[in-house]
Amino acid sequence: MPIAIEGASPLPFGPYVAACLVVAETFLAARLPRHIPYPAASYGWDAWSQQHGNAPDTTAPDTCAGLDLTGTSLAGVGAVGTTWVQTLWAVPGLRGIVELVDDDREGVTKTNLNRCPLFGSMSLGKPKAQEAARISAVSSITWKPQLGRFQDSPGQPTLLISAVDTNRAREALQNQYVPRILSASTSDLRAEALRGGPPSVGACLRCHNPPEPLIADDTLRERAIAAGTETLDALANELAVERHVIEEALNRPACGEVGDRLLAALRRDHSAPEPRFAVGFTSAFAGTLLAAETIKLLLEAPMSADNPQHNNVTFQFLRPRSPINETRELGADPSCPACASTNPGSAVWHNRIQRL
Ligand SMILES: [Zn+2]
Repeated sequence: MPIAIEGASPLPFGPYVAACLVVAETFLAARLPRHIPYPAASYGWDAWSQQHGNAPDTTAPDTCAGLDLTGTSLAGVGAVGTTWVQTLWAVPGLRGIVELVDDDREGVTKTNLNRCPLFGSMSLGKPKAQEAARISAVSSITWKPQLGRFQDSPGQPTLLISAVDTNRAREALQNQYVPRILSASTSDLRAEALRGGPPSVGACLRCHNPPEPLIADDTLRERAIAAGTETLDALANELAVERHVIEEALNRPACGEVGDRLLAALRRDHSAPEPRFAVGFTSAFAGTLLAAETIKLLLEAPMSADNPQHNNVTFQFLRPRSPINETRELGADPSCPACASTNPGSAVWHNRIQRL
């Protein structure tokens, strides 16, 4: 169980990390009792130095009061994103204006409730960014929620926080070339955080993340028909046509103004990848690491003081004391089109970083 330390800082990172570790141990003991040994000794993780530690790093600040987050924009208010909001909400004295951007038209669903720590039953059906802002409204931070895609939002953030869950979405974010980029992601029982760039040197959001294959138009149409009348009515309402027009366009596809707009809506709403294994403690850990890196970046602290060039941290829960859990230098993917030196976008990105 987590151990309280007298005189500990009021920051939430340690308690949130400890909560994730103890939930993970409970999960492993229940689900894999014969494969995963019960921990022989206490262990911990320090989010300031991003390394193993049984006690807080004494060089870490115990307050961030007055730190201004203006210019920060979160893309993706799901499991990782809501943890990021909740963690920063719990840091005393942060200030500034923070954009929360999410494109999920369905809003909060029942399946979100066990992984998005901010949301409760009152949130069902509400847009995620608006609901996260509403719940955390009593804050020294001013949240500006938006329903839509990050690339369509009017602001010009200086720090992009990527908490999206597909490589296509990551690629779209990278193509905006926001000067400073932080990202967190999960895969099975692994959480990871990345500081993007520098261009062509350190990994960007597109590096090592090939976009998922596009879903065929016919499959999208089949999914919409299978989703039922409620979905067809919503599409008809959005496109301002009768439902029978939607049904005809789905059953006898042909080029045309309605058909084109219908396909755009289907690609947006029905091209989500197949559901994957996901547990709340992994995304909560990733969101907490992401929040810690946000504060550290704004304080101009490196991810790892011992290795200032390190830009990536990985933590997997199956063997939490393993040396695999560490920071590292994750270089740019030589085949990445987004941050290749020949891409004019890389020069734009470089110039924006210089101007900061
Ligand atoms: Zn790249």
